[in-house]
Amino acid sequence: MNIPRTSFPRIIIIGGGFAGIALAKKLSKQEVQVVLLDKNNYHNFQPLLYQVSTGGLEPDSIAYPIRKVLKDFPNFHFRLANVDEIDAKNNTVITNIGNLKFDYLVVASGSKTNYFGNAEVEKHSMAMKTIPQSLNLRSLILENFEDALLTSNLHERNALMNFVIVGGGPTGVELAGALAEIKKGILPKDYPDLDTRSVQINIIQSSDCILKGMSDKASQKAEDFLEKLGVNVWKNIRVTNYDGKTVTTNTDLIFETATVIWAAGVKGALIKGLDAADFITRSNRLLVNEFNQVKDYNHIFAIGDIACMVTNDFPDGLPMMAQPAIQQGKQLGDNMLQLLEGKPMKSFVYKDKGVMATIGRNKAVVDLKRFKFQGIFAWYVWMFVHLFFLIGFRNRMVVFINWVYNYVRFDREARLIIRPFKRKN
Ligand SMILES: Cc1cc2nc3c(=O)[nH]c(=O)nc-3n(C[C@H](O)[C@H](O)[C@H](O)COP(=O)(O)OP(=O)(O)OC[C@H]3O[C@@H](n4cnc5c(N)ncnc54)[C@H](O)[C@@H]3O)c2cc1C
Repeated sequence: MNIPRTSFPRIIIIGGGFAGIALAKKLSKQEVQVVLLDKNNYHNFQPLLYQVSTGGLEPDSIAYPIRKVLKDFPNFHFRLANVDEIDAKNNTVITNIGNLKFDYLVVASGSKTNYFGNAEVEKHSMAMKTIPQSLNLRSLILENFEDALLTSNLHERNALMNFVIVGGGPTGVELAGALAEIKKGILPKDYPDLDTRSVQINIIQSSDCILKGMSDKASQKAEDFLEKLGVNVWKNIRVTNYDGKTVTTNTDLIFETATVIWAAGVKGALIKGLDAADFITRSNRLLVNEFNQVKDYNHIFAIGDIACMVTNDFPDGLPMMAQPAIQQGKQLGDNMLQLLEGKPMKSFVYKDKGVMATIGRNKAVVDLKRFKFQGIFAWYVWMFVHLFFLIGFRNRMVVFINWVYNYVRFDREARLIIRPFKRKN
């Protein structure tokens, strides 16, 4: 891998997401060698993926080169590599570009879409966890309208214009809101010869409310906002299958659709090697102690989505969200320096900064610890927080300008089929 030899301890970080970057930044000026491995050369700001899928933002504005984040630090090395296996006995990571020994290893590999073992759903539905997946979805949505315009078969046309989002968490809700805005503001102008009133946007949630982790008020308001936008909110319904044409559920309800977006869950992006049954949770996360050490290891840590830290407030592990990942990354940086100096590490305490979701133009719901609010002010707060956490000045400027332009012009200019989406056979 061409990593220079050094007398400093080598810390390998797998993953340049929120957690890995926060950790690398903390360690990069210290007397350690940091090697960050990621299968992509960019950090992906996942909370705005839905805006890429719906043509509101270009993909470049939510991605940032990992090398650039840490360019000024001489002891930092980035390699574009997929880690295939962790050989914990020999302190080695095995990757597609070679093997590398570590003194300390930090797994920050995040999560991937959870289809709960349903291979057919996995094959036919669309996920939205990566930038390429979001671009696929953008292409498919636009291709559907192009195809709908051409077909004289009413059944086929309706299926092309029927969107089913499975999962009523923030991702599903934000996507549904954005699709509804497109239906209202863009489709009638772009497709005057198509009856776009028949576009249906459905969101299916298995429990009795959407935005389950948020307050009742936020959940109810989000549902009201969606219904006002014309989204069909289906609750207490579980999707059982999708064969590429029909969504079946645990009730009599079925949906004939060409597009299912699966936002019903994620699971840890586990890497082979650390897979002993006693420290993997049901959602494929690595059980860690209060110092983020993977159970049974002193020199292997996990942070972010892949780590399952059980606390009194979170008996199933801290939420798989950006804040726990960032906070764990920062704290582990401090703890590793303590460890290297032979000093005691500090237990991680999660500071809950709140949860928020936006539902189309001018509407959002925000649950902070002390305040809960909904509507236009919440929408401004949502925008400010997302701009603040986006990495890179250029990205912040581009996103801000895009949002202002989209707001004033009721437009989403990135509705481009750059790379047509090909369905799997
Ligand atoms: C659509 C969507 C919307 C979201 N919205 C919000 C939101 O509004 N608010 C919020 O707080 N959270 C949100 N989240 C969740 C949030 O993005 C995650 O919790 C957060 O990204 C976790 O950070 P992480 O560093 O653990 O993992 P990630 O950010 O996923 O980073 C993991 C990194 O590891 C790399 N990697 C994985 N496996 C390997 C391997 N084998 N070899 C090399 N590299 C590897 C990946 O390429 C990636 O760069 C959203 C997630 C999605 C998908």
